[in-house]
Amino acid sequence: MVTGGNRGIGAAIVQRLVAAGHKVASLDMGGEAPEGALGIPCNVTDAEQVEAAFAAAEQAHGPVEILVANAGITKDQLILRMTDAEWDAVIGVNLTGVWRCAKRASRSMIRKRWGRMVFTGSVVGLFGSAGQVNYSSSKAALVGMARSLTRELGSRGVTANVVAPGFINTEMTAVLPDDVVAGYKAQIPAGRLGEPDEIAAAVAFLVSEDAAFISGAVIPVDGGLGMGH
Ligand code: NDP
Repeated sequence: MVTGGNRGIGAAIVQRLVAAGHKVASLDMGGEAPEGALGIPCNVTDAEQVEAAFAAAEQAHGPVEILVANAGITKDQLILRMTDAEWDAVIGVNLTGVWRCAKRASRSMIRKRWGRMVFTGSVVGLFGSAGQVNYSSSKAALVGMARSLTRELGSRGVTANVVAPGFINTEMTAVLPDDVVAGYKAQIPAGRLGEPDEIAAAVAFLVSEDAAFISGAVIPVDGGLGMGH
């Protein structure tokens, strides 16, 4: 199960997992999945839609063994101008939406005594970012969620990790002005933005059998931007 699987980083993750032979269900608002995956329309802020999406995925593919909670939004604003609606919207998708999917997915994982949860965090979760108090708070919270889930479910063969992308070429960053992107590039030791498939590669490893002893980790995939954070 991959949320936000229709485009950007999520689509690259879906494609990797399909290529690795997984039966993949992809959730997004419109239900348009990359080829080879089952697309299910689902707004992760709506509990009933999440329940229905899991039921549909399970009917088609069997119990959910892997959850990649990747759907995320930004509503950037300096704190004095940030509205309650901008705060609530970002927390609703990026944090509560992840919790809702993790809670539902844990049911079948506990029963199976095997599971993999990967949350798409962000370098700014631990690095901070002016104008993104809502977004960085939501992403930092995913670290606490993965670590608490690790403590709750670790003995049941379930791992929970965060992949923390740096600046990646997707629609989310395409809206940034050129001078802002140039400023970011200057701070990234790799000297470039990342590609969605570079995040997908880390996710594919974390959900594999080889990563069974990695849990509660934050794996940066950021060209070195967040070193030490
Ligand atoms: P995009 O903006 O390209 O895609 C966002 C995805 O989230 C879409 O699939 C979208 O579906 C889905 N989504 C948004 N809201 C909801 C919702 N309420 N319910 C279900 N799905 C929803 O983002 P990216 O691919 O760039 O980002 C993916 C993840 O990576 C996000 O969590 C983001 O915060 C994180 N990230 C991205 C970075 C970057 O530089 N791009 C850097 C660090 C982290 P739909 O198309 O239907 O709206």
